[in-house]
Amino acid sequence: EPLDLGFTTLKNRVLMGSMHTGLEEAKNGYKKMAAFYGSRAKGGVGLIVTGGISPNFQGRVAPFSSQLSFPWQVKNHKLVTKAVHEEGGKICLQILHAGRYAYHPLSVAPSKSKAPISPFKARGLSRFELKKTIWDYGNCARLAQKAGYDGVEIMGSEGYLINQFLVTRTNHRKDEYGGSYENRMRFALEIVEAIRKKTGPKFIIIFRLSMLDLVENGSQWEEVVELAKKLESKGVNIINTGIGWHEARIPTIATMVPRGAFTWVTEKMKGEVSIPLVTTNRINDPKVAESILQSKQADIVSLARPFLADAEFVKKAAEGRSDLINTCIGCNQACLDHIFKGKLASCLVNPYACRETELVITPTKKIKKIAVIGAGPSGLSFSVEAQKRGHEVTLFDKASEVGGQFNYAKVVPGKEEFYETLRYYNNEIKETGVTLVLNQKITGDDLNDFDEIVLATGVHPRELKIPGADHPKVVSYIDVLTKKIEVGEKVAVVGAGGIGFDVTDFLLHPKEDNAPNLDDFLRRWGIDKSNTERGGLINKVLPHPPRQITIMQRKSSRLGKNLGKTTGWIHRTNLKENNVTMMSGVEYLKVDDSGLHVKIDGKERIISCDHVIICAGQLVNQDLKGKLDSLDKPFHIIGGALKAGELDAKRAIEQGVKLALKI
Ligand code: NAP
Ligand code: SF4
Repeated sequence: EPLDLGFTTLKNRVLMGSMHTGLEEAKNGYKKMAAFYGSRAKGGVGLIVTGGISPNFQGRVAPFSSQLSFPWQVKNHKLVTKAVHEEGGKICLQILHAGRYAYHPLSVAPSKSKAPISPFKARGLSRFELKKTIWDYGNCARLAQKAGYDGVEIMGSEGYLINQFLVTRTNHRKDEYGGSYENRMRFALEIVEAIRKKTGPKFIIIFRLSMLDLVENGSQWEEVVELAKKLESKGVNIINTGIGWHEARIPTIATMVPRGAFTWVTEKMKGEVSIPLVTTNRINDPKVAESILQSKQADIVSLARPFLADAEFVKKAAEGRSDLINTCIGCNQACLDHIFKGKLASCLVNPYACRETELVITPTKKIKKIAVIGAGPSGLSFSVEAQKRGHEVTLFDKASEVGGQFNYAKVVPGKEEFYETLRYYNNEIKETGVTLVLNQKITGDDLNDFDEIVLATGVHPRELKIPGADHPKVVSYIDVLTKKIEVGEKVAVVGAGGIGFDVTDFLLHPKEDNAPNLDDFLRRWGIDKSNTERGGLINKVLPHPPRQITIMQRKSSRLGKNLGKTTGWIHRTNLKENNVTMMSGVEYLKVDDSGLHVKIDGKERIISCDHVIICAGQLVNQDLKGKLDSLDKPFHIIGGALKAGELDAKRAIEQGVKLALKI
């Protein structure tokens, strides 16, 4: 349904939430951003909010991050607004001043302080600088208006500068911008006033309000409500919900967070103000979005990463084709993890994201009959993209279902979203017309009818080569995840990569029904649903761990060091809080009835256990390569079959897509 804001109307209730993609700073970035946002506007989203742009130099997130302060910068932004408007969309620029989160030595904050997630100590703003910063916000908004933006979003949450002013955790000022809550709100309110004054009444102002800080000495709920009311009175048109500071040690968007897990926070604000409220976090499914809107928990739903995963999310939902939505699985692997490494964002399930001008799908000039062997992530992505180009693809797998290693990942608690990726590919196979042949093991003699072959046969688990490796206690992670065996109460996990951690997580959840439950999640992470505690924090309630688990690796480094930057800490915290023993620098000696014999720091010891679960990495499946060499046909190897080390679904899917675009 449209949403009337008085002077302008949004065509529906879906907002594309702000995401920094790295295009902002890339070469030809604004052209690329125009293509990126333009395609999302074409895909039907009601309102887009750009990645955060700083109103001045100190506010930049990193030294070379984007800033909008000068008239000469307007031209670039016009490329973006034009592309969005041509597709019938609307777009707001997010103004973000990083405050003490800035990753550079010139950072400033309400008072001198250092954020736990930045190596730099921020300087306290002088009164003059503070006033100038407010002016900078107004100036930035005015320039955004000149560039054709329909409005701005003021980033007032996630622990950035404005949020830092609001709480005593970070605001120790003695002037009229510190002390009482009335004083701490002043900075935010004067920014709104400055922007409204510079842009006039017909310009959308969204304020992203931190409704749940999830840090000690954060805001009290009554304070959040008071600020919301004052923001409305100052002319804010829409209030967006912010959940958790970046320094909070509580997962708020990772895949183990249940869908729509924080909508109750926005719902509590309903009735306190009369302007529209946006809810956010882990809304990745049109049914969830629709039910939030129908039940009036919020007026608008914000989805960010789901628009990396599928530019046409809204269009497909509106046309009753939700089954073809490529769902964001909340992994962060190609979006946030890339950004934190200074790389361009994309999407694990959709490598086209943020590369709209480089990865362009065009019809093939020469139709080929292509056999794809292996329906894991790389075989699947190749098949549907190549078929879309007009090739005639036959996809073989010896299993009875598609998915390969995804079928193991999907059963890990908190990774249920992988079911959606499989649903997407199954439907895309039908939609595009790929011929799918399951339960068939290819020998090589059956490939004569094809012009080209794609070997996507994936990987198999590495076995442990020590005495006793054939002991009944020794099992593979596959036996565990497929529940082929009943795992005992004392367990040794050999290998602490992604799969070692996943298997440990799996074994910490004894319940048959592993679907994430919202109340369990909130209790487990100590989130106060009653909104009585400052910052929304209460003591965590951890269920008793069902097993005694030891996880180990040979390397002497910290366990889980190579897990995703934005999610690894969650896995490590979870294991630690469940009393899992983590050991590095381990030499494996043998397995016998007493357990796993290891040597650590030169000393031998026995890890007494019922099962030793091998998660020691993967080896390539290239059995067919010799046969293909002898066939006089072009063939290609992709995914795990090409290189098993450091394999992940991101690389596999991307390789499939890239080969499909050029074959
Ligand atoms: P991995 O991440 O490469 O880890 C393999 C583990 O096995 C390491 O801990 C390694 O540590 C150990 N290892 C290697 N060779 C060994 C040997 N000969 N004997 C004993 N231990 C050995 O591989 P994976 O866990 O199988 O995961 C496969 C891929 O899927 C990875 O790329 C992973 O990132 C990805 N994945 C990602 C996630 C995620 O959440 N992002 C989850 C699951 C899987 P030492 O060499 O120190 O012993
Ligand atoms: Fe979602 Fe993962 Fe894609 Fe990021 S990389 S948008 S979390 S599916």
